[in-house]
Amino acid sequence: MEIIHVSAECFPVAKAGGLGDVVGALPKYQNGLGHTAKVVMPMYRTKFLYQNSFELVHEGGQYLGGHWFHYSIIREKTNKLGFDLFLVDINGLLDREKIYGYDDDTERFIGFQIAVCDWLNSWQNKPDIIHCHDYHTGLVPFMMQYCNGFSGLANIPSVFTIHNAEYQGQFGWNRSNLLPPYDTWKSGMLEWRNAINPLASAIKCAWKVTTVSPSYMEELKHSAGGLEDLLVYEQGKCTGILNGIDTDVWNPQTDHLLAGNYDEHTFKEGKHANKKALCDRFGLDIEKPLIVFIGRLVGEKAADVLPDAIRSSIYQHHGDVNFLILGSGEPTIESRLEAVKNQLHGFVSTYIGYNEGLSHMMYAGADFLLMPSRVEPCGLNQLYALRYGTVPMVRSTGGLKDTVKDFGDWQGFGIRFDHASVEDITYSVGRAVDLYKNKQDLLHWMCSYMMQIDHSWDHSAKEYIALYQSLIT
Ligand code: ADP
Repeated sequence: MEIIHVSAECFPVAKAGGLGDVVGALPKYQNGLGHTAKVVMPMYRTKFLYQNSFELVHEGGQYLGGHWFHYSIIREKTNKLGFDLFLVDINGLLDREKIYGYDDDTERFIGFQIAVCDWLNSWQNKPDIIHCHDYHTGLVPFMMQYCNGFSGLANIPSVFTIHNAEYQGQFGWNRSNLLPPYDTWKSGMLEWRNAINPLASAIKCAWKVTTVSPSYMEELKHSAGGLEDLLVYEQGKCTGILNGIDTDVWNPQTDHLLAGNYDEHTFKEGKHANKKALCDRFGLDIEKPLIVFIGRLVGEKAADVLPDAIRSSIYQHHGDVNFLILGSGEPTIESRLEAVKNQLHGFVSTYIGYNEGLSHMMYAGADFLLMPSRVEPCGLNQLYALRYGTVPMVRSTGGLKDTVKDFGDWQGFGIRFDHASVEDITYSVGRAVDLYKNKQDLLHWMCSYMMQIDHSWDHSAKEYIALYQSLIT
């Protein structure tokens, strides 16, 4: 089966979060199952572009809002990622340093989607499945079905995965001229609440819709940024498939970004070497339990609660714990965290920014990983933590609920709490400190156990294939 993944991110080409990790791994595992999965994404000006060789495979042109644009498709020559990688180059529109965050993001991603449809429409042997990810590619299922210019794609099954329903990409009808000519009787397939909503359109038009965990699928029916009714209405074609992790990249035995490699037998020494490197670098105390947070500093991740929760935890637990935060996001949260760092020097440190290498060191060197997320569609951080023998401390929501069992339960290996509040986090930190100080045997059993849980893509990749197969037989 030939599968085309369409996405705005793909690790290591360009990654802002979990979407990049998923699209960088899933196709490789699908190929491992004997299929041919390929990825098409925008050509940004990232390091990957300059460090690898590409060949031109197609050139074309289309209209975007009345303006003709030229695009080219280039392919990475060596199959470096374990799948064919195609980049769409639209001069002046996509070739920027950042993935998101420009005023013309709407135009950029519509241009990208038009170019992808135009290119696929020109193929003589069409792919079996087109799998789109998140709202930046959410108009593709509509374009495939209702844009006259792409009629060659109308019978290809489309699958759409919601990695995050908070971002929907809405824009006003006054900009509908950005879209290629379409069957105007079908305008309703674009609309949600008087606007063009790419996420809603994908949910309406895709043949199947998936979310990145079963619990998130259920949660969306009650809280989906205004799309709840739509998800209830379309629930018959929706399923939750839990993300996996790329165990080639995330393997403490071989990870070259670590200060020391280890496995489930040697984790005590291995984790110690990484913790020492972190504590030396950030001025923390290696004798104390180290709790880390890695992620976007936004309300969705409950990063706004962190400054007060950290302060309260350190006071209430008599300074018996250290924190290290890696992330970037809302400026007010960033500056509040910096203030806590200055106030509680020696107990708290931060790295404001994005740093892939440091994140690996932290998954390995920390004792606990804190994720108080208000919303967590799947969450990959806790899966990396498990793989690296770091106890996840998570709020019971979405994918966190599906993957972490509290150590108070039979064969539990994590810490769970219910609210993204200072009180719940402080209480959970108390449990972590107690585990670290007084229950070392249990802690070591938990580390060894969690490192052996299989969260690789093997299982989930098969689930996606089964889903595709249900559409083409
Ligand atoms: P989301 O996609 O909602 O941001 P996920 O848990 O699905 O959250 O994925 C987050 C991914 O991004 C993980 O691989 C995590 O390690 C990485 N990440 C997030 N913030 C940073 C950062 N500041 N530096 C390095 N890696 C980061």
